[in-house]
Amino acid sequence: MVAGAGIPRARHVWLHGRLDARDLQLPPPGGTGPRPFATREQRARPRGRGRVRRDPRRSHPAVLRQPEPVTGPGLDQQGDVRGTVPPSRGGRRRRQGRAATSVAGTRAHRSAQRGGQGVSDGAGDRQLALRSPHAAVPQLDEGHAVVPAATLRTLLLRALVGVDGADGRRIARLYRGAARARRYVPHPPAQLPQARALPTAGRGRVTQTVLVLRFSALGDVVLTTPAIGALRQAWPEARIVYAIKERLAHLVEHNPDVDDVIALRDGEGPLSYARRLRAVQPTVVLDLHAKIRSRILRALLPGVRKVVWHKRDFRDTLPVKLALRPYHASMLFADRYHAAVEELVGRPLPKGKLQYFLGPEDLAVADGVLRKAGLDPSLPLVGLSPGANWATKRWPAERFAGLARRALERGLQVAVQGSVAEAQLAQTVVRGAPGAVDLSGKLDLRGLGGFIARCTAFVANDSGPTHMARALGVPTLAFFGSTDPTMFDFHGHEVLFAKVPCAPCSFFGRRRCPRGHFRCMLDLGEERAWAALLPLLSAGRLPLLSA
Ligand code: SF4
Repeated sequence: MVAGAGIPRARHVWLHGRLDARDLQLPPPGGTGPRPFATREQRARPRGRGRVRRDPRRSHPAVLRQPEPVTGPGLDQQGDVRGTVPPSRGGRRRRQGRAATSVAGTRAHRSAQRGGQGVSDGAGDRQLALRSPHAAVPQLDEGHAVVPAATLRTLLLRALVGVDGADGRRIARLYRGAARARRYVPHPPAQLPQARALPTAGRGRVTQTVLVLRFSALGDVVLTTPAIGALRQAWPEARIVYAIKERLAHLVEHNPDVDDVIALRDGEGPLSYARRLRAVQPTVVLDLHAKIRSRILRALLPGVRKVVWHKRDFRDTLPVKLALRPYHASMLFADRYHAAVEELVGRPLPKGKLQYFLGPEDLAVADGVLRKAGLDPSLPLVGLSPGANWATKRWPAERFAGLARRALERGLQVAVQGSVAEAQLAQTVVRGAPGAVDLSGKLDLRGLGGFIARCTAFVANDSGPTHMARALGVPTLAFFGSTDPTMFDFHGHEVLFAKVPCAPCSFFGRRRCPRGHFRCMLDLGEERAWAALLPLLSAGRLPLLSA
């Protein structure tokens, strides 16, 4: 048989001309088997020659618009994760109508024949699933945008998705050079800029003032401690001044590496605050915030050297926010802060420790609250924190209640903490686990640190208290759904992540699941969580991490 016999004649010969006959995967006698050459040809749609036959192995777009079947518990069991969204004007019915014409042989068709578990695994799905039944209209909250027209989406966004940048979990794949040029990955030592001349007091000791900008949030501030520790090690004589929101100032006030804290008062304007910052006569500004406020303040501090940290690869921003592809952090979150300090100092530095420094009254404040609630701070205590700023970061409160019941059956004390806004979640847990104590709204920052420090083990979502617990060496079980757990070091602790194909779909959480099924959290069962928690209950204090 002559190679290539039986293959339909190419519609555009230039494509064939680049391929050798040995590259053709010929169909076996009988006509079945893979036909990649033919399908590749059909995908390359020649301009102005009309439609060619669709690749039967690719899902039909109409099928992809179907809502994905939900596995496990129903959507109504997500606690307060999401309210219902009214259906769009006829759009859903139209989509379902089109779906009824699903093409035999497509992925969705085969899935339905198997039982329809509907695990979505294609980049195309991600694109079209932006309109789930729970997102019947384009969602404009974090991570969502009005979907552009089909042509623009295909030509522009697909191109962006194809650029994969420095997202290979520390291994930049295609554009490491470009990413490094933009300072998204750490510089090798040889490429670090030389430290500019700073005021010294003989023998190269840097004695002047480094102004660190990081105003919020709780977890992010805690995650700066290794970088600040590294800076202190590098420049022991320098004065380190930390600029932070007043309500969070307690987080750094007792850090021995920080000399002064300048708290940003509620409602204080940038001009007034910049005046107070100028009064400390900073030699260098280390901006670990890099948002509008810190940019304005940097501009209001002319003539001062500035070093700014970089959050993430800019190529991630649009495709991840549009839920076109998952986000995989290219490096540990705290390492980005560390890279900024290395850039400031001008040489590679050993990493500092992730630590949280309690104030002298913190334990006493927490003990008072615990005693008032009927708990004994000296007995084993499991701390639960079912809240998180973003809904897609919350494991269902009912499952926290299940964990609490099991802990209570073992004779452990259980306390649930949260802010005032999270009181409803805490009440759900306490209602489902009689004997557990609700501390929501009763712990300020002093009490929170003291409470976590008293815990035998701490269970939480991806949130500030989780990082506080790791920084205190308290054995921690963390649930990650729509965010990437590889941004943090969990050695010795436990982290549960469902690894559904769409996860992690955001940088810091969303208000609702863009796909509607919320499997990243609902697939994490109570039994699995208890199995992960059990060894932590006897682990004792853990060694401190660096990120
Ligand atoms: S299931 Fe989770 S990771 Fe997947 S799209 Fe929904 S929120 Fe994002």
